Amino acid sequence: MTVMDTALISNEIKTIKSMFALGTDIHFVFYQPNFECAFDRAHNFILDMENKLSVFRPKSLVSKLNRYGSYIPIKVCPEVYNLIKKSLEYSKFSEGYFDTTIKRLMDLWKEAKQKNQMPSKEEVELALTFSGSENVQLLQNYKVKLKNKVKLDFGAIAKGFLADKIREIFEQEGINSAIVDLGGHILTVGKKHDESLWKVGIRHPFKTREDVLGFLELGSTSVVTSASYERYFTIDGKKLSHIINPKTGFPAKDDIASITVVDTNSTFADAMSTALFAMGFKKAISFIQDSKTIEAVVATSFREIYITPGLAQKFTLCDSSFRVIKTNEVIVL
Ligand code: ADP
Ligand code: MG
Repeated sequence: MTVMDTALISNEIKTIKSMFALGTDIHFVFYQPNFECAFDRAHNFILDMENKLSVFRPKSLVSKLNRYGSYIPIKVCPEVYNLIKKSLEYSKFSEGYFDTTIKRLMDLWKEAKQKNQMPSKEEVELALTFSGSENVQLLQNYKVKLKNKVKLDFGAIAKGFLADKIREIFEQEGINSAIVDLGGHILTVGKKHDESLWKVGIRHPFKTREDVLGFLELGSTSVVTSASYERYFTIDGKKLSHIINPKTGFPAKDDIASITVVDTNSTFADAMSTALFAMGFKKAISFIQDSKTIEAVVATSFREIYITPGLAQKFTLCDSSFRVIKTNEVIVL
């Protein structure tokens, strides 16, 4: 996902602040002065949460929860407690396709990648038995208990959660004209000084990082994309997605090239972009049609773009070899 930068055209003053966290470059673009305090708070919050949520850091709160949570209840901080609560809610909403207990399956596929050998059906089935949101218990006093040796992974929702907190910090600090790019996850805050909308580009799934498939013109919201083009891995020459279908335990099908969800609730948008990707094309389109609340742009591997009616007017296509179809006007068999 790229942000269409119109700064030079409209002669605006903007300041870019960057940092690296959660394995990605994060850019803050402020279109107003007096942002230092907001940036410092957001920066410190991101680093603090990375320390708590990372499954790659053995001393993080989540690593501790994954290690001991099946034996004793672990007390976590209110932020992590609320994130787990939301994860369980979104898991239910997405019929289990968003699954924060995916860690054991992720570990299995990581090992398979290192060995360059597909896991056996039995191994996948075993890892599947050690997953499922029903194995996460939220107790009183910010305590969490895990059952059945499940382990948690917040990789699909952490950036959305941070984006919502950044918005809160910005509101408190009087920021009303800024965008934040958390690596494929764009947060737009307020409007530009000339009252024009933000232009947020959707990356072309089959071209380079700089190529744009189309762009959306939006107010204050968040735009989250899950795609297979960047974070796939290969086993035995076979391209596999980093998003797992929790129903099968196997990497998601690749009929969705990219899915972009737009919602003022970034955590929800992040969870849903992952869940819809995990569903695969047919299920994702029927889920979007049934939900009536999800706003999304789905680019398929067969060069079609499915768009919800709420976004259709806001979208401009930049590659005419794609066909745009409204999700409410199609029956996917
Ligand atoms: P990105 O980080 O590329 O934006 P996502 O937000 O879609 O991607 O999250 C992908 C990550 O989420 C994976 O790397 C993994 O840690 C985790 N994950 C994979 N499959 C699922 C799933 N079905 N539900 C929840 N988390 C998942
Ligand atoms: Mg996600």
